[in-house]
Amino acid sequence: MPCQAGELIGSKCLDCDEVSIPQREICPVCHSHEIEIENFSGKGELVAYTVISVPPVKMAEAGYDSKNPIVSGSLNW
Ligand SMILES: [Zn+2]
Repeated sequence: MPCQAGELIGSKCLDCDEVSIPQREICPVCHSHEIEIENFSGKGELVAYTVISVPPVKMAEAGYDSKNPIVSGSLNW
């Protein structure tokens, strides 16, 4: 598991340079399939975050809830 190994793995679109964490198979901006896996340093400035304690159905099925919330953030690096 990447988190347990201390790694931050995402993807980068080779057509528009959009970066996604977690990694995606299709670019969310230009919908390109030209994606490469990136291993990020994990260093950056946290500019915003949110705690989601009522998750979407699939995330709730994976064990997320108000006692185990999802945290999502935006970084500048
Ligand atoms: Zn793209």
